[in-house]
Amino acid sequence: SKSAGRNEFRFFDPAMQVAAVERVALATDLRKAIEEKQFLLHYQAQVISGNGVIGAEVLVRWMHPQRGLVSPAEFIPLAEETGLILPLGDWVLETACAQLAVWALRPEMEHLTIAVNVSARQFGKLDFVERVLSVLKRTGANAARLKLELTESLLVDNVQETIEKMFALKAKGVGFSLDDFGTGYSSLSYLKKLPLDQLKIDQSFVRDVLLDPNDAAIARTIVALAQSLGLGVIAEGVETEMQRDFLAGVGCHCYQGYLFSRPVVLEAFEELVLKREM
Ligand code: C2E
Ligand code: CA
Ligand code: CA
Ligand code: CA
Repeated sequence: SKSAGRNEFRFFDPAMQVAAVERVALATDLRKAIEEKQFLLHYQAQVISGNGVIGAEVLVRWMHPQRGLVSPAEFIPLAEETGLILPLGDWVLETACAQLAVWALRPEMEHLTIAVNVSARQFGKLDFVERVLSVLKRTGANAARLKLELTESLLVDNVQETIEKMFALKAKGVGFSLDDFGTGYSSLSYLKKLPLDQLKIDQSFVRDVLLDPNDAAIARTIVALAQSLGLGVIAEGVETEMQRDFLAGVGCHCYQGYLFSRPVVLEAFEELVLKREM
């Protein structure tokens, strides 16, 4: 009603209004950015102890013509709200798959996998499976080298539909990693119903794994859970050797984090693959 609107205005915080105006400006820029392809991908190494780099997670970056590099923490939520995540997500997937096809022709790169983040809005689309399959076909990428990172909240939205989509992609060889694992609020019962390949221990548990007994217990439990379900496990946000050693001690041998590499441009990632035995 009108009076409610007036009340809202009365309590409106000028700082919030600035933020709102800012968001609208950013949304306008984002629309343009997608048309003008102002994005690039950074590649962050995923490593297995003793076996070097096994692949990369791609993380999108926005090169804003005036603001410079804008963090995905800022524009991904906005892209989700505005629906712009759909063309952006298509671009990320297409770019990643095209890279897989290039690597397939290089003996020292052909083993690499690429993990792509998928947002709820993307995954929720009825034609999500078709989109992924058509990108694979168009680029010639090997589906078995593509890993999709899904989050718990995305999975429980519509469990039956989720299961069908995942099995359809799984049948073609696409892998699935459950991102930010442990931060969601869902029950564990769906875990065994879904064709997952890997649990990804969220960096919030890794950060204080040596200081906070609760985080240590959670990390240990996630590894044990993965093992008992026959799933792989990777820890994200590994910054120190002591964190890595703790994780290795509880049976997690696959890592991602600044200890190994920051997210970097393609050329730098490839150099890392060539020279680094981790
Ligand atoms: P995420 O999927 O959980 O990605 C991991 C984030 O942790 C990345 O932040 C990465 O740069 C950062 N990180 C990696 N190693 C370390 C470490 O050792 N220490 C610390 N402190 N941080 C580390 P980034 O690149 O800023 O991305 C933030 C989030 O934006 C991602 O979280 C993901 O949810 C989203 N995002 C990024 N790219 C895409 C994309 O292409 N599509 C979608 N839907 N979301 C994306
Ligand atoms: Ca991720
Ligand atoms: Ca994550
Ligand atoms: Ca995260």
